[in-house]
Order: sequence, then C-alpha cells, then structure tokens
Amino acid sequence: NGHAAGPAPLDASRTTVTLAASLKPVPPAEELVFGKIATDHMAIAHYDPVNGWSAPEIKPYGPLMLDPLSSCLQYSTSLFEGMKAYLGADDKVRLFRPEMNMARMDRSRERIALPPVDFNEVLKIIKRFVKLEERWIPRVQGHSLYIRPTLIGTRASLGVGASDHATLYVICSPTGPYFRVARPLSLKAVGDYVRSWPGGTGGYKLSLNYAPTFHPQTVANKEGYDQILWLLGDKITEAGAMNFFAVLMRDDGDWDVVTPSVDGTILPGVTRHSCLELTGAHGSEISLYGLPSNLKLHPQERDITFTELEEASASGKLLEVFVVGTAVVVASVEKIGADGKKDIVLQRYEGSFGPVARGLYEKITGIQEGREQFRDWS
Ligand code: PMP
Repeated sequence: NGHAAGPAPLDASRTTVTLAASLKPVPPAEELVFGKIATDHMAIAHYDPVNGWSAPEIKPYGPLMLDPLSSCLQYSTSLFEGMKAYLGADDKVRLFRPEMNMARMDRSRERIALPPVDFNEVLKIIKRFVKLEERWIPRVQGHSLYIRPTLIGTRASLGVGASDHATLYVICSPTGPYFRVARPLSLKAVGDYVRSWPGGTGGYKLSLNYAPTFHPQTVANKEGYDQILWLLGDKITEAGAMNFFAVLMRDDGDWDVVTPSVDGTILPGVTRHSCLELTGAHGSEISLYGLPSNLKLHPQERDITFTELEEASASGKLLEVFVVGTAVVVASVEKIGADGKKDIVLQRYEGSFGPVARGLYEKITGIQEGREQFRDWS
C-alpha cells in the first residue's frame, strides 16, 4: 500500500557487488604481519532512522568519509568483532563458531545503544564477502583470513546521547600464526590500572575498552613482559586481550582447569568457551592429544586470585597457565611477575606448550582447519 513499515531491516539479499578494477598482489605467507594489510574489498551498509538499513555493498576497499561531529569520533560509539576464516586441506573455507561472534556483537551494540541490526544477515554478508576474498587465505597451516566486522555511530551531532545513525562495515586481513615460533609468554600482573570493573563495559567488545590499555601495555613491554595480566583487586580477570586459564592439581589426582567466570569484568571469549567445552568432553566424547584418556579434567568457571596462584605455585599444584583467544588460539605462560613480588615461574614443557594447552591447541586448530570434526563448530 506504499506505506513503509518502519525503517528497513538489514537485508543481505539486497547486497550489491562492485569489484575492484585491479587486484593487489597477495604477499608471501611468511611476510604477513597481523592487521597490516586489507584485502581488495570491504562490505558496508548504513543506517538512518528514516530509511533504516541501506542495501549492503561489497565494494573496493577504501577510506570512509565521516562528519567530524560523528558520534563514534566524539563519544566512542564503536565496537567490533574478531574472527577468522580458515582454508582446509580439502580447499573448503570455514568459519569457527561465527554465530557466537554475532551474538556478542549484538550485546556490544545494545550496551552503547546503537540501532538494531539483524546479525543473521551480517553473517550472510560476511560469508559472501569472505568467499570473494578467498585467494587471500594463505595455503599454509596456521594461517587464516582475519575478519573485522565493525559498527560505528555516525550521528552528526555533539548532543551527548545515543547515535541514531550507524555504519556497519567488514574488512579482512590475511594473517599468520601469532608467533612464528611457538613460545611461552611472560605476563605482568597489574592492579593499579584496571581494564574492567563491576557494572562497567569489560564484558563487551567495545573499542573504548582498548585505548586505556595501551599505555600500561607499552610500559610492560619496555620491562620485558609480553602481556599484562589484568587484576581487579586480587582477582584475575584477563591477560592482554585474551582469556586466562590455570590448571591445578587436585587432591584426588584429577586436574581442575580454571578460568574466571563471566561476571561482567571479562570478555566472554569464543575460544574460552570452546576450551571449557573441550576440557569437559575429554575422556568421554573426545580425547585431547597427548593427554591420557583416563585423566579427568574438571572445567571450572570461578574467581581465581593472584594469591591463590602464588600459593598453588609454592605448593607445586600449579601445573600450567595459558591464555586463549582468536588471534593466538592457545599460548602457554612461563612467568608471571608483579611489582614488589616474587615471580611465579611455571614449569617449561617440551615444545613450549603445557599438556592441556597443547591438547586444546591441537584440537581447536584441527577443527578450524577441517582436519577434525566436533559438533557443528566449523
Ligand atoms: N579478551 C579480550 C579483551 C579480547 O579482546 C579478546 C579477543 N576477542 C578475547 C578475550 C578472546 O576472545 P575470543 O576467543 O572470542 O577471540
């Protein structure tokens, strides 16, 4: 009847594709530096409160034009996701649990009151875009195409309030393993700067969570540490932009695999969630590489303090510490320092991975690259 039923929802089936006139050369896999280069195209759609979502476009990669009054520039209405596309030996491109990234992105969106987005449609756009950029995925194990879906508030007004205009865009960057040679990390426990607090935004993937970490991270790097272990009081939250795990020996000989619970002060990582599920499935549904199948692993989401870590280390019960995330997958930790405290030194294992870290790393990369199947994770 010609009357619009309100602003248009995002609709992947309306996507238009404009190909780049010339394609960039893809650098050799071994030269890739994380996040340095983008592929040939980008996907983008715009929202305004009258028309709703524009038809999504896949078009040549290029700069955005933003009004200097834009909400994202003035008030940090900006959020993103980090996910990867993997090329299997069978030539199939796979995403790893992308619906979890989409669900998290919607929670981030709601937290800073950006306009509604149908993230099922975003995933459809991502799949089409990634397929188009397939030649950028290095044919080398451990390499992938990093995908960065981004949502920004574009309301052009200094009025302090929600942005009723938004731009959604997706860019891709080919990437290699986090470390060319796997090595254990050193962490510096920091509690005088905090990344998150109860009721704050640490549980969301908002851009504004990251900028305040850059100064302390720079200082920690100068002191020779790889990453910061973020404390809230004595409580451990996360390590850098990765989730934290400790493996503790129990009195009955089983192992506890402990990670901080999702209480609003940690980002609910996709890798974290996957590690908990795989740990729980070990010995029944699956067997983690290198671990005896009669070794019982107990995944635990609970508070863990720096003091507990020191005590477990002193009594020989701290078997391993590792950190997890999309970029690194799983990396073991060899040392945790803190100002005015004795270092916690972890056992060094053959091949730079502790046993649980190794088992999880092999299983997750196997699923991601299609060498293994687990539920519907790829
Ligand atoms: N914590 C923070 C603060 C992060 O930015 C990330 C990366 N997204 C993670 C943890 C790990 O989450 P994921 O496993 O989903 O990559």
